[in-house]
Amino acid sequence: CGIVGYIGKRQASPILLDGLRRLEYRGYDSAGMALQNGGSLDVLRRAGRIENLRQLVAEKSPTSLAGISHTRWATHGAPTDENAHPHCDQSGKLALVHNGVIENYQSLKDFLKNDGHTFASETDTEVLAHLIGYYYDKGNGDAPVKKLVSAVQQALGKVKGTYGIAVIHTDCPEYMVGARLGSPLVVGLGQEEHFLASDVSAIIAHTKEVIYLNDYDVVTITRDSFDVQSLEGGAAKVKVSTVDFTE
Ligand code: GLU
Repeated sequence: CGIVGYIGKRQASPILLDGLRRLEYRGYDSAGMALQNGGSLDVLRRAGRIENLRQLVAEKSPTSLAGISHTRWATHGAPTDENAHPHCDQSGKLALVHNGVIENYQSLKDFLKNDGHTFASETDTEVLAHLIGYYYDKGNGDAPVKKLVSAVQQALGKVKGTYGIAVIHTDCPEYMVGARLGSPLVVGLGQEEHFLASDVSAIIAHTKEVIYLNDYDVVTITRDSFDVQSLEGGAAKVKVSTVDFTE
């Protein structure tokens, strides 16, 4: 339902929680975040209110400068801690948040199970996380971020349905990847920081410079840069807009 991602010079978790709260009005049943933590991921998820997640975050007091977060409106699987996003791939090194519905998730899940994958939730989203991980692990000697973008492109090429997604991987902690089809995603451009959000209201407190992604765009952001490609790998049209309303 709601997506917020942050990579930059400030602590990510307060920015993510604040962003999720600004998307609360859209409705949700669970909330979660995944943070880069020096070679591993902290994945924090709770059914129920964002306040439940906030308490979990307060217990862990993470100091990460990069992470992705989500408020879920369940379509596949009950609103439980296990079904809350983010979801990880088989290796546990990749985390994904997702808005929308993967219509062909059952056949993709059967294919992955055949390949030895095991699943911890009932969601369509976890299947997409594993599918991206599957292509990542098959990737050749490219740099991790190249492998990740290519894996996202290959996996989304197999998907029928709708998605706005944000993805992180411990092999390339300085990067975050986003993509959309039929579900909105916006990039926020800041000073030594970049954002992803499903709605501009989640990040308007931090920046007014945004890129509204188009369907079939795949974006890669770092603290200092952004790059938009098409799902097929070519260059995509990029238009930076200035948001002309205040909070
Ligand atoms: N289909 C996904 C799920 O049920 C995402 C739902 C959403 O957009 O929040 O977990």
